[in-house]
Amino acid sequence: MSRAAADRLRARADAARVALLPLSVPSTANRCDARLDRAAIERFISILGIRHPVVVTWTPFPNDRRGDHLWQRGRYHRIRVAFDVPARQLAATLVHELVHAAQSEGYPSHREWRAAYDRETDLHGYGANRFERACREIAAQFSRDFRLAS
Ligand SMILES: [Zn+2]
Repeated sequence: MSRAAADRLRARADAARVALLPLSVPSTANRCDARLDRAAIERFISILGIRHPVVVTWTPFPNDRRGDHLWQRGRYHRIRVAFDVPARQLAATLVHELVHAAQSEGYPSHREWRAAYDRETDLHGYGANRFERACREIAAQFSRDFRLAS
């Protein structure tokens, strides 16, 4: 089998795994030695009522952004967390992005979710955007009880 064919096969297997796994988290610690607690994340996902698979990855961001969420083709959530986010900020970042994941499931695609989100920001500004307000409220409620990271 050629290397290209093997790569294609592996990519298909990876895609299938993503479709089957409810949660995928990076197994290694990030640059600040922060680690994600898979079981705690799973409990929080179920509390939020997220129905689709969630994939979490460490990502280098070019700015001081800590994380983001992508609603991938309305099939699974991809949450990217800055690979150098300090441990004390990691749980709050993850809670924030998981709330966005729950919110986005009310929309059939990332484009429609993003349009609703941007409309809120246009009308009320980032701080009063109702999606962001919900993130802050839930983070304030859960960040202490739920240690999603260590
Ligand atoms: Zn947000």
